[in-house]
Amino acid sequence: MSWARCRKTDPEVFFPIGSVGPALDQIDAAKRICAQCRVDAECLAYALETGQDHGVWGGTTPEERRAMRVLPGR
Ligand code: SF4
Repeated sequence: MSWARCRKTDPEVFFPIGSVGPALDQIDAAKRICAQCRVDAECLAYALETGQDHGVWGGTTPEERRAMRVLPGR
């Protein structure tokens, strides 16, 4: 947790409402932060293992994580 890049970021950036329009800018902002995070792989693994259905985790959206669960190994 102490290495999480999002630790000092407004959590709302990581939980956009919807997946179109202004939410896309929010998702991009969250993904840019995740791209610089040293624990992104662990974060994504946690999100997949615990079935996080909301928000950006490990640089992925809920839709992208659902696709990963359908197609393991992606
Ligand atoms: S990868 Fe996870 S811990 Fe790192 S910034 Fe993104 S949401 Fe936060």
